Amino acid sequence: MAFFEPDKFFSRISHVDIERDLLACGLTHALLDIDNTILTRDTRELPRDVGVWLARARDAGVTFCLVSNSTQSDTMGPLSERLGIPLVMRSMKPLPQGYLRGMRVLGGTSKDTVMIGDQMITDVVGAHLVGMKAYMVAPLAEKELPHTALFRWMERVMLGEQKPEPVTPATQQMLEDVAAERVG
Ligand SMILES: [Mg+2]
Repeated sequence: MAFFEPDKFFSRISHVDIERDLLACGLTHALLDIDNTILTRDTRELPRDVGVWLARARDAGVTFCLVSNSTQSDTMGPLSERLGIPLVMRSMKPLPQGYLRGMRVLGGTSKDTVMIGDQMITDVVGAHLVGMKAYMVAPLAEKELPHTALFRWMERVMLGEQKPEPVTPATQQMLEDVAAERVG
């Protein structure tokens, strides 16, 4: 079962504390799922707290690569350019190839790279297949493709009692700054 269990589970990506959950764990590279991890699937928007979080993590020395199963280069390419984050498309998660390409792009290894995504069957299992940690986040939007509904049900069963990581004071401050439009 540990294969399916995320190493940590968060309510959303901006709740990953850059110091506690990344740097203090020796994680300086992160592969990012796109749909419902950094972009809402329904509106295709990057929430402001996610944008601020990405900028702060990069300022702290974390490098990112987008790893998506998407084949839509017309939308994914401009996103990658806008964010200034390299992109691995058609990664066929949970197969290892996308994770290996992402690590190569970042110059990372399976020990200093973490996968962050919202789906257990693709994001989490694929990361564990290459010996990488996996942080799972709750999906940004509940609107899903039909086949994901079954996965969601399986995830709820397998996550069981695993609760989201508590928000640290530093993260709470960032979220309040975003809400008050002091940043972002
Ligand atoms: Mg996703």
